[in-house]
Order: sequence, then C-alpha cells, then structure tokens
Amino acid sequence: MSGPICFYIPSHITDHIARSAGRLGLDAEAAQRTAVASAALRQQRRALTTTSLSAVTAPLPGKGDRQIFDDENRFETGVRLVRREGDEPAPAANVNAAYDGLGATRDFFREVLGRDSIDNAGLTLQGDVNFGDKYGNAFWDGTRMVFGNGDGQIFQDFTRDVDVCAHELAHGVTQYTAGLIYTDQAGAMNEAFSDIFGACVDQYVQKLDAGEHNWLIGEEVMAEQMYGEAIRSMAHPGTAYDNPVLGKDPQAAHMSQYVPDGDPHINSGIVNRAFYLIANDLGSFPAAKVFYAALLGLWPQAQFRDCAYLCAEQARILARDGKVGRHAPQTVRAAFREVGIA
Ligand SMILES: [Zn+2]
Repeated sequence: MSGPICFYIPSHITDHIARSAGRLGLDAEAAQRTAVASAALRQQRRALTTTSLSAVTAPLPGKGDRQIFDDENRFETGVRLVRREGDEPAPAANVNAAYDGLGATRDFFREVLGRDSIDNAGLTLQGDVNFGDKYGNAFWDGTRMVFGNGDGQIFQDFTRDVDVCAHELAHGVTQYTAGLIYTDQAGAMNEAFSDIFGACVDQYVQKLDAGEHNWLIGEEVMAEQMYGEAIRSMAHPGTAYDNPVLGKDPQAAHMSQYVPDGDPHINSGIVNRAFYLIANDLGSFPAAKVFYAALLGLWPQAQFRDCAYLCAEQARILARDGKVGRHAPQTVRAAFREVGIA
C-alpha cells in the first residue's frame, strides 16, 4: 500500500456534523463513529506511508477488471467478494452502482485520456460497499475505493454519485503519476485533479459538456432533507453548502483566499475553478486532456504555478496536434491568472 488516504468528505465537515448532530436531532452516534473511524484510518495511514515506492514498482499487467466487495457493515475492507468482471448484476443496488461507477471511470480514462486503468497497466479495480456502520464517507486507501452507506439523514449511500467513484479512482491515478504529496499546494492539486476527473466522468455518463453541467461535487449523496446542497462547487467554490448540519463551505476560489497549511479540500477550489473556466471555453474533455497531460509531468512537491505552466505547455502541444482548439494555451493562461495563479 502507498500514498495518502483520501477521504471524500473532508474532516472539517465530518467534525462539524459530529458536533452538531445531537443538537439537531440527527443520529449523533453514527456521526461520531464516522469522525472517529476516519481519524483512526488517517493515523493508521500515516504510520504506514513513509515511502510510496510500491507505486513505482512495475505491477503485473492486468485487464482493469472490477472486483466489488461487501464489507458487511464492518470497519474492514475486502470482507466478501460479491461481483467480479462480467458477473450478472448482484441483488444489492449499491454493489451494482459501484461496479457501474468504476466501469464508467475506467472507460472515461481509456477512451478520452488513453489510460489503461489506475496504473496504465490494467490494474484490477477494487471497490468496497457497506463499509462500517452508517459510515458517512468514502475513501481511496492506496489500493481500493471504499464506500459507506451514510446515515440516510445527511448522506445517502456513497455509490449513488458516479463522481465519488471517479474522484476516488483518480486519487489512484495521481498516486501512480505525479505522486503529489497530500499537503499545501501539492495536496490541493491532488484533490483538484480528483474533482476535475470526477466532474468529467459525471459528464461522460450523462453525455453533457461544460455548459450543461452543474459542476457540483457530491450532490447525489446528500440525503432528502439536504436536497440542493453539495460537497463542493467547481464553478463557485465556497458556495456548495451553508446550513446548521454541515456548516458553511470554506473552499477558496482565488489565491487571495488561499489558506496556508489548509486542508487540501479547501485550497483545491482555486484549481477547480481554473479548470471550470478552461472547460467552458475549450470543452470539458479537451480541458481534461490538457490537465491529464500536465499531471503526467508533475511531481510530488509541485506548486500551483508548475501546474499552470505545464497546462499551458501541454495545451500548446495538444493544439499543435489538433487535439484541442488553437487558442487553448491563451485560454489556460487567462484562467489561471483569473484565479490568481500567474
Ligand atoms: Zn479526494
């Protein structure tokens, strides 16, 4: 195992829920368990990850096959294999949603970006459903994508939104390419790349382009009474939610709001918005090609400026090859400048 553990719901939200759930008449125990389990996993991860060398060891070539496990509401992964590649649909909807979500993500990477699974060598895709007890989160643990059921009051099953699958799988891609560390600007980019590819897979599945998409992350995992809220907005970072349960979205939309040492999910808004601006000009998939090409050239401690420079450089190369519009380099530079990265 290698790389950081990457949670879908950041700690500032899980902590806020744990603090406010009892007062608001929600399932306080489930909220507390989620916060405690997430913190414990983070600690465990820190102890395990002094190096990420396993990510650079050549794996055995695979076919990008899917394996879905039912964790039977235990706080363990890989409990029972319930659906393999090519198997008939399982009785449980979330098993099939995870299977389909991982499949759509794999297909997007293959068809649009020319990448063969997480490691570009057909790595088997492992997904776990029913992790924990009313667990209100999803995460990539360095080898697999893990989904909780949510408590049904704040969050629903995390397999419900394909951008969760895509977001977590993209953390795997980042781990096997740039290997961006999970702090400061590199960490924020790590998160942004996951949101970017997550939003693109959402559009790939729904057959939408930039102008038609809502650019919301996680809106489908919100429970009925939270309808209309989302976890992040790529178009307008900092506006995704504002309510007594989740608190107020603290995401930064511009470098002037950058939080030094801030959670990667907060500062990621700056790069997310740059991508949104670029996608609205070039189209989402051409923009994804630019960012993917940049990701292949980034490195663990890279900064926002490195990303901006590489995106413009890759836009120039892709434009020369007729893969994106001729004005792509200028669009990329203008977008990064608009969010304060120049
Ligand atoms: Zn993430």
